[in-house]
This record gives sequence, structure tokens and C-alpha cells, in this order.
Amino acid sequence: MTKPVVENAFWQPEAERMPRVELAALQLTRLRAMVARLTANVPFYRDACARAGVTGDNIRSLDDLRRLPFTTKADLRDNYPLGFMAVSRREAVRYHGSSGTTGKPTFVAYTRRDLETWADLCARFLVATGVRPEHTAQVSFGYGLFTGGFGLHYALERIGVGVIPVSSGNSDRQLTILQDMAPEVLISTPSYALKLMEGIQARGIPRGSLGLRFAHFGGEPWTEDMRARIEAGLGILCFNNYGLSEVLGPGVSGECPWRNGMHIAEDHFIVEAINPETLEPAPEGEPGELVFTALTKEAFPLLRYRTRDIATLTRVPCPCGRTLARMGRITGRTDDMLIIRGVNVFPSQIEEALLRVEGTAPHYLIEIARPGALDEATVHVEIRPETFSDSMSEMQALRDRIGRAIQAVTGLGMHIELVGPQTLERFEGKAKRVLDRRKA
Ligand SMILES: [Zn+2]
Repeated sequence: MTKPVVENAFWQPEAERMPRVELAALQLTRLRAMVARLTANVPFYRDACARAGVTGDNIRSLDDLRRLPFTTKADLRDNYPLGFMAVSRREAVRYHGSSGTTGKPTFVAYTRRDLETWADLCARFLVATGVRPEHTAQVSFGYGLFTGGFGLHYALERIGVGVIPVSSGNSDRQLTILQDMAPEVLISTPSYALKLMEGIQARGIPRGSLGLRFAHFGGEPWTEDMRARIEAGLGILCFNNYGLSEVLGPGVSGECPWRNGMHIAEDHFIVEAINPETLEPAPEGEPGELVFTALTKEAFPLLRYRTRDIATLTRVPCPCGRTLARMGRITGRTDDMLIIRGVNVFPSQIEEALLRVEGTAPHYLIEIARPGALDEATVHVEIRPETFSDSMSEMQALRDRIGRAIQAVTGLGMHIELVGPQTLERFEGKAKRVLDRRKA
């Protein structure tokens, strides 16, 4: 895509168009201050930086970033819930969380200034892609521990947009609001927009008769095919943004009118793409695991956080005038995490749930498909010979127990299929637990 699809506009033009030499100087100053603060306030970084021989003072150039320790999701779990907090609880004004393998969320924290920065960074990509104060926005992201709803909400208000905080779910009500309140802007996951699109078509609402003009998608990986399908089906423009709670939430990066990648807020984060095996930098333009270092966050700044998201980076100048590096779509994950309806799910969580239900064997297969707009997950579970029964009601009760256990751990409803003893394939070594038909 080489032509702008909306008028180019800026929210913080000085930061977004800063010459790269100035940007590098700003990053270095901020990095030195951040390392000095973290080694003083966070035991994990005090110890890890001491082992690496790094102090704020002996960072001479941005190349010294590579001497800093990495931070992983496992480190967050080991320091659960707030071991990485760099301020006192008195200064924190918000907590968010994301799901983890153990069923406990990992928490992140924000000061008042962190929330201001967050709103500005989301406002950057919203304004860049056509959102204006006269607009109304329907936010169909969940409002809760997940960062999506609140993250976009305050950015929209800051721009002056009228926000309808409908949150996720209840598609009938969502469709009625789209018709009656006529918002120009939809904030949702792309798969939820597809579901709404099917509802609009099922209601016989003619294409283009709604007020809707823009949709901003995040929260899950999607494709250019999906963009084309939703844009054609609804007669709107769709834009991509990226973020994760450990780094900020939405607003880490977002598209400009040229839609040739997402500009990263490099004045607030240093981004790297690394080879996840060797931990060496991936060559520019080649896929690598994204790693972010916080430069300005107060409450919960992480150094070199390994996102496990795979994407390419480029610093080739963009026609929009933003000097900030761009990242491509997320093309994969470095581990086996599944994203089902925008929720992170690990196969080990299913295992954990099954362990809680008597009568099941530790053999299972997760099958994921997208028959309509939304992901559907079916878990095939082997039952023990002694549990096997001809009683339909007993088998139904067992399925219900498994379903509830999985929902309790993952937060998602899944279909449960019981299969007889010894019917699922056995594996030598690492078992294949996932059959993802969405990729077909
Ligand atoms: Zn651009």
C-alpha cells in the first residue's frame, strides 16, 4: 500500500517527526536515567545489572543496550505480583493484568503520568488514521484487567471523541448501537468486527448505510485478507495497532495513513528484533522477536522485555514524515501460546484444568477453527476406562465439569468432546496437543 488512505495528521508532531539523531540522543539520556533508577529501586535489576557490570553512568552509547539483561514473562511470574514495580503503591493509580500459564494473571502498574503517556500514544495512531473530535467511537474491547478497553477509552476522550464504552459481548446490543448512535469509529478485535459484519448482513442493513467509517483493530494477529474482507463488507477503513500490557498496552505502535507498517513510539521505548535462539540482533527487514525497553515509564518499566512476538523492523523513511521506526504485522510467536478470540491460552492450562477433573486421562487435543467470524475451540479429552459409562447423563455431567474447569483456568468457553480410552494418538517426546485449522 503506497498511497495515503486518509489525510495525514499528527497528535504530537515534534515527537513523531523528531530527526533520528535527536531521537537517539533523547533515547540515550532516558536510558541512562532509567537504568540508574531501576538498579536503585528494583531488586531484580539491581542484581542482574550488577552481574552484567552495567550502571546508568557507564552506558556510553545506545550500543550498550546489548549489555543489559533481558526480562521475560517467567521473570514476571517469579516476581509475582509486583516485584518489578519501581514506585510505591501510593504512586500507582491503575493496575492491569494479562493471563499466564498458571491461571494467575501477571500484573502491571501505572502512575498518573504513565496513564497520560498511554493516552497520548494511543491518540497518536488514532489521529494519524482519521479520528477527529467530532467523531463518536464505539469501544467493543473488554473493560477490565485487559488493557484494550481502558487504553483506547482515555485516548479517545483526550482527542475529544464521544466514547460509547459498550465493552465486549452482546452482539445484538452492539448492532443496535451501531445503527442508532451511528458512531464513525469502531474499536475492537478484527475477529469481533467480522462477527458484527455478519450480524449487519443478517439484519439486512445495506452496506454503507451505517455512520461507521473507521475501525481500529488490535489484541490479536490478523491478515491483509481480513482487512480487505472487512473493508469491502462494511465500506470502511481498517487500521492496525499493537501493544501488550507488559510494555504499555495498546499504543506501543500503530499505522499511519500509508499503512505500510506500524510506527513505534521510539521516544518512549527502544525496540530491538532479535534471533530468539542466538539472542543476536536480526538483520534489518528480517523477522525477529520484538524486545522493548521502557524509557519513560514510572510504575512498571521493564528492560529488554522479550515479547515472543515475531515481526520485522524497518527504519526506512516513511512518506508520512514520521521518523519513527516501523514494525510489520506479527507473523508468529516464539512459543506455543495460542490466541483464541483475543485471549492468550497455553496448552498447559488445559492440562491443568483436566488434572482437576476426576475420571479424565492426561491425553487431550485442542482443535481450533474459525467457522464463522469467531474462533471456536474444541477439546478432545480421553476418559479413563473405569469412567466410561453408557449413561448419557453421566457423560454429559462429566463434559460439563471439564468445560467449567477449562473456563475457570482460561476464561474461555470451549466445546468438550469425550473420546474413549486409548483413542488419541500417543507421541514420543513433545506431544502435539494443538490442531489449528485457522491456518488452513
Ligand atoms: Zn508513516
